[in-house]
Amino acid sequence: MDQPEHQSNIGSDKSGKPHKPDESDTRDLVVARPEGLYCPAGDFYIDPWRPVERAVITHAHSDHARFGHRHYLAARAGANVLLSRLPGITLQTLAYGERLAIGATFVSLHPAGHVLGSSQVRIEHAGRVWVASGDYKLDPDPTCDAFEPLRCDAFITESTFGLPIYRWDAPQVVFDGIDSWWRHNAAEGRASVLFCYSFGKAQRVLASVDAGIGPIFCHGAVEPLNRAYREAGVRLPPVGLVGEIPVKDKAAFRQALIVAPPSAQGSAWLRRFGDYSDAFASGWMRLRGARRRRGVDRGFVLSDHADWPGLQSAIHATGAARVIVTHGSVEPMVRWLREQGLEAGAFETQYGDDTVEADAAGSVEPAAASHP
Ligand SMILES: [Zn+2]
Ligand SMILES: [Zn+2]
Repeated sequence: MDQPEHQSNIGSDKSGKPHKPDESDTRDLVVARPEGLYCPAGDFYIDPWRPVERAVITHAHSDHARFGHRHYLAARAGANVLLSRLPGITLQTLAYGERLAIGATFVSLHPAGHVLGSSQVRIEHAGRVWVASGDYKLDPDPTCDAFEPLRCDAFITESTFGLPIYRWDAPQVVFDGIDSWWRHNAAEGRASVLFCYSFGKAQRVLASVDAGIGPIFCHGAVEPLNRAYREAGVRLPPVGLVGEIPVKDKAAFRQALIVAPPSAQGSAWLRRFGDYSDAFASGWMRLRGARRRRGVDRGFVLSDHADWPGLQSAIHATGAARVIVTHGSVEPMVRWLREQGLEAGAFETQYGDDTVEADAAGSVEPAAASHP
């Protein structure tokens, strides 16, 4: 795709002149503006929430990727998904690790392990490196590239699950649990309805369960994302569409796993499955009482965000002396960082308040999902 017009500015840092500290060398590489996180030296925004000229998008979840920007830059691996969510945008893509000059900076995108195409944004300027994490997780996920640790001077991190109570089991343990719940239901001739977010979590579930147990169906809201994942080369098992089964045919679902978005919970759509067991897959299921309040038979603790130890080890691996927290449990994380002797602060952002995990949190602990 086209190089940005900013390309012509790149000489300013490569002029060979002796390095002389001036204002531009000490200025922060990323600052908070009303539109979003802004890089003055590159004149671009990261995941802005208001319309801007140039937006670098970490991933296609709706609190990070919004309509209205003039130019979008994102990882090539996530192009299908991003365009399926935001059709018609002007999108430039970068392979992971590919460097692009933007203004006086060099920018590259690196896997964040969160969902397909999710990136950390690495910004280099005047010998300094800042990294903005976007959302990330360290656990293995067959549907996206693994999180890449990056060294930097300053790390801008999410903190969705930045409290010591959040510790995840190994993913395989969780999927074994989902499989045995499904197998048990299938043996009793009962459908298994699993609620999870339609972008990222649903595909991770599909790619990880034992598809030999029975047929798999998806809600119509999940299918477009499945298609985008398949087009990007992610292997998913064959999945039927619930809407393609005659309404009276309940037998078709007796051995089936049905993957549906949280919004389908409590809807008339569920009647077509006859007898069913339901479950919810989310990091919020770690909270005491979350499953009961959600009104489902089972809760599986499965998140696409780093848990508390994961956040700590990811931050530590950056070697950053300065850490800025964007969303989630901001204050506990900032406090912990300062205890580690790091310079820590927070950016007020509008991330984390959409349906991504928030709808899984429901009434359980809205503060945890929407805290700035
Ligand atoms: Zn996300
Ligand atoms: Zn987020």
